[in-house]
Amino acid sequence: MILYSIKMRASKQGVHVSGGERIAHKSQIKQVIQELVDRPAEFDFMNIKIQRVENLKHIEKTLNIQTFIFQDHVQANKFAVELITRYTGIDQKVIHRYIQMVHTGAGEGGVVMRGAMLVDSDGFRREFDTNRGVRTTCVDFEDREAIISKLLTAGFTTRTADALAIATKNLNSRYILAEYCISDDPDYLFGYIATKESYIRIFPMKEKGNPKGGRIYFIRKEADIDKLYHYLEEECVLIKDLGEIR
Ligand code: AMP
Repeated sequence: MILYSIKMRASKQGVHVSGGERIAHKSQIKQVIQELVDRPAEFDFMNIKIQRVENLKHIEKTLNIQTFIFQDHVQANKFAVELITRYTGIDQKVIHRYIQMVHTGAGEGGVVMRGAMLVDSDGFRREFDTNRGVRTTCVDFEDREAIISKLLTAGFTTRTADALAIATKNLNSRYILAEYCISDDPDYLFGYIATKESYIRIFPMKEKGNPKGGRIYFIRKEADIDKLYHYLEEECVLIKDLGEIR
C-alpha cells in the first residue's frame, strides 16, 4: 500500500503558529490538506510538504493514559522529577535543572527549541544542534478518526491524540527511557511524562501565562545518536489502537 506523509507548518510575522502532520492514502490527500489548512486561526505563511512514505513500521497500541492533578506546578514538577529518576537513574537535581531550562526557553537566549532536548543517563545533553533539538515526525494513527472519537468520548482533545502519537513513537525506541513535555501555549498547563508503559498527563505542569515550552527525551548513555535521529525523523510509524485509559 502506498502512503504519503503530509506535513504542514504555518507562521505569522515570522513566528511559528501551527503545525501538523498526517500519514494518508493518495485518495485522502485533498481532504487532509483541507484539514491542515483550516488548522491555524491566522497565518501569513504556510508550507505543505507531501512525501511518499518509504519506511513504515506498525505499533499495536499507544501508551496507556493516566492523569494526575496537583495543587500547583511546583508539586507537579516534583512528582515529574521523581518519576523520571525512577525510570532513568539520573540524579533529581540534574533533571530539575534541565526542566528549569525548558520552562525558561532551552534554546540560545531563552528561545523555545523547535525540537526536543536529548539528555543521556549520565546527565549529558546529546542533541547535534542545541537550538533545534531532535524532531519526532512521521507518526499517525491507522484510523485517525476512530482514535480521535474514542479520545473525545473519554474527555480528551485532539491535542492529546497528537502528543500521544509522538510519545508512543518515542518510547518505542530502545534508546528512549522517558520523556518530559510542556506546551509552549501560555494557557495550556497540562504536561506529560511518558514512560515505557504510560503517557502520564500531569496538571498543572507549568505556570499560567508562561509562553515557553519544550520536550526532553531521556536516553540511554549507550544510545547511537545517528540511529536515534534516523528513527525519530526519517522512519514512519502508524499506530493501530489506543492503550488503556486508567
Ligand atoms: P507542543 O506539544 O506542540 O505544544 O510542543 C511543545 C514543545 O515541544 C515545543 O515548544 C517544542 O519545543 C517541542 N516540540 C514540538 N513538536 C515537536 C516534535 N514533533 N518533536 C520534538 N519536539 C517537539
